[in-house]
Amino acid sequence: MTTQIQDQIQARRTFAIISHPDAGKTTMTEKLLFFGGAIRDAGTVKAKKTGKFATSDWMEIEKQRGISVTSSVMQFDYDDCRINILDTPGHQDFSEDTYRTLMAVDSAVMIVDAAKGIEAQTIKLFKVCRLRGIPIFTFINKLDRQGKEPLELMEELEEVLGIESYAMNWPIGMGKEFLGIYDRFNNRIEQFRKDGTDRFLPLTEDGGLAVDHSMKKTSYYTQALDDIMLLNEAGNDFDQEKVKNGKMTPVFFGSALTNFGVQTFLETYLQFAPTPQPRKTDADVEINPVTDEFSGFIFKIQANMNPAHRDRIAFVRIVSGKFERGMTVTLSRTGKTFKLTQSTQFLADERETVETAVAGDIIGLHDTGSYQIGDTIVGGKKTFSYEKLPQFTPELFVRVTAKNVMKSKHFNKGIMQLVQEGAIQYYKTLHTEDVILGAVGQLQFEVFEHRMKNEYNVDVRMEPIGNKIARWIQNEGDVKESMSSPRSMLVRDRYDRYVFLFENDFAMRWFHDKNDNIELFSLL
Ligand code: GDP
Repeated sequence: MTTQIQDQIQARRTFAIISHPDAGKTTMTEKLLFFGGAIRDAGTVKAKKTGKFATSDWMEIEKQRGISVTSSVMQFDYDDCRINILDTPGHQDFSEDTYRTLMAVDSAVMIVDAAKGIEAQTIKLFKVCRLRGIPIFTFINKLDRQGKEPLELMEELEEVLGIESYAMNWPIGMGKEFLGIYDRFNNRIEQFRKDGTDRFLPLTEDGGLAVDHSMKKTSYYTQALDDIMLLNEAGNDFDQEKVKNGKMTPVFFGSALTNFGVQTFLETYLQFAPTPQPRKTDADVEINPVTDEFSGFIFKIQANMNPAHRDRIAFVRIVSGKFERGMTVTLSRTGKTFKLTQSTQFLADERETVETAVAGDIIGLHDTGSYQIGDTIVGGKKTFSYEKLPQFTPELFVRVTAKNVMKSKHFNKGIMQLVQEGAIQYYKTLHTEDVILGAVGQLQFEVFEHRMKNEYNVDVRMEPIGNKIARWIQNEGDVKESMSSPRSMLVRDRYDRYVFLFENDFAMRWFHDKNDNIELFSLL
């Protein structure tokens, strides 16, 4: 491999922003793109006026700049880095794809609303990152509004998420009295709403303000100094190794909307964010990103909701080597070899065709049904498969039937294909063999219904059976079918494993009290 390609790979930083809806993920992303120069002219004016870009503006911006700003992957350059941000949809768009996206990144940025603290969706996404042991960087947002005490937020991080934290900077005041941040890491104070040279004030060696400045006289400044003293004495020490293993999260305070602390965050983040990481195959062989052989895996398949296009986009995380348009690859699962020609697009955006990409990047492949989630593609002669992507514990369930019983053949075929592809999870009841589908987000059911109609010509009836707690069984041999009840329904999954669907926590505890020999476990 040429050193030029090696350098390109080393310059990549691929991450996802995880947060609860409304914490400021979109706003933060916009600001990062702005610093990356991706939206300098077109963006700022409108951003100031409305704080938000309309979708059409984004498309216009994409055309002008020749960059891709789609909802799924955004790429920009900053300093000498090429940054890929992968979107993790929330709200009604939350699905297993959201979790799987976290399998394709090398680090995560967690945005927390200072007034709300750690919220439900953040916890879920955090857990997935945690299991992978990837570095997690925290940005505590909306300091321009009154929020929780910073020390309380740090405590919450440690207690709710169980991760050590290290404050890279510390707010001086908050809300209307937000004066700026004390930048422990860069040894300076960054003043809120000040531009130019006056924005950064240097600190002395012992941590005091080096210049005579009105800020010194405020109680907020004294409070911040007190807090920092406390952190210095009783807080964690910064430990780069722990950050690397996802055991410690560097914490930044700021305000995405007012663009305060974002650039400092970005620059510091880039110092510590990992370059593309190696990945293991299912034979436990580690594949280094800097190798000649191109390889990657599919972590997401996006169905086209437009009925005029039946095709889908398969998103590939490149793990090693270099992709070139027109190259020949092998799909490891089937052994089929084919050329990635004009069907290859960059992202979900039809205007762009990617010519080359390297390890760390994400490319989108046109898919007419050849790919499944978790598939590995490899250039060259040898084939191998990357480790299986995890299956996630669904929380929502529906009972599904074909409206027209004459269509049951198509119905079964459609379900099996969509299940294999990874769009939805399949369960069946014990004797009646009713089909039950599981998902982590409502969107998955909608996509399922739509695709059954459009691709398999089957109208389905979906009867919600509500939220359930799904638990698999360690000692299946001890399970008796008589243990099944309406509040703890026993079903089988697609691999024929027993699964209990509990109505709620109470039902699960009750079951446990009655059957303490049964060892339950959840998937991710
Ligand atoms: P997302 O759902 O996480 O993508 O959140 P958005 O970026 O859409 O932000 C949700 C709301 O919070 C919007 O009204 C933003 O304008 C607002 N917001 C985002 N960042 C800040 C901030 O730093 N300060 C304040 N006051 N509001 C913010």
